[in-house]
Amino acid sequence: YTGQTLSSLFSEQMQKIKVKDYLSFPAVVKESSSAYDAVCDMFKEDVGSLFVINGKGLLSGVLSRKDLLRTAIGSQDMTQVPVSVIMSRMPNITYCRNDDPVISVAELIIEKQVDAVPVVRDRNGGLEVIGRMTKTNITKAFVALAKGSIE
Ligand code: ADP
Repeated sequence: YTGQTLSSLFSEQMQKIKVKDYLSFPAVVKESSSAYDAVCDMFKEDVGSLFVINGKGLLSGVLSRKDLLRTAIGSQDMTQVPVSVIMSRMPNITYCRNDDPVISVAELIIEKQVDAVPVVRDRNGGLEVIGRMTKTNITKAFVALAKGSIE
């Protein structure tokens, strides 16, 4: 192989690795949940960010560790603050879909400087959360590629 064909082969392989092959189960909270409950959920689910859903079960925001820490160092009572007040919200949420290449999600995560993005599909004029892509999922795809386990 020449350098040219090797690198185009590599790009081709990268495009074949899709979100649906590497996503994990999403941890979600309702926007009416308290910041206190969100902290508990984050520990219980062992995740760094929670996806927030509205009354219709559709994506309305993302809540990160730092959003909760910011609230915790404020003077508010965590049990009295709904997550809807402290989350990042739609339409400013970065998300991806099942058929997106993992490499595109990696670029998004770098560009937007976030740790996780929800995997969504269209439902009832909104977005339903069907998974989660994080830096860890991307690292797993990277390792699989290095080990040659991708056809
Ligand atoms: P942390 O805040 O724990 O370092 P992130 O870097 O993921 O975690 O989050 C940084 C900020 O970006 C937070 O305010 C969070 O609400 C927001 N955020 C996280 N993920 C997303 C996303 N997918 N889309 C939009 N905003 C996000």
